[in-house]
Amino acid sequence: MIPMQLGTILVLFVSVPLFITAALALIYSIRSRHRSGRERENIYECAECDHVYAFARSRPMDRCPRCGHLNEAVRT
Ligand SMILES: [Zn+2]
Repeated sequence: MIPMQLGTILVLFVSVPLFITAALALIYSIRSRHRSGRERENIYECAECDHVYAFARSRPMDRCPRCGHLNEAVRT
């Protein structure tokens, strides 16, 4: 068996899971930053003039850019 000091074993038991967790957190944060803006958009269909439009803001209702009528989001 490889001779190891108790301190070295303890440092390995603490630092190895810590490095794995930090690496996973870094991967997830990079992935979420590269998510396209299209996925965060709300899609609206105007009940007045049938104009279809999208806004990146997450509001339940938004005005139609063509006629100004308030519409509910079709897909969020
Ligand atoms: Zn409209």
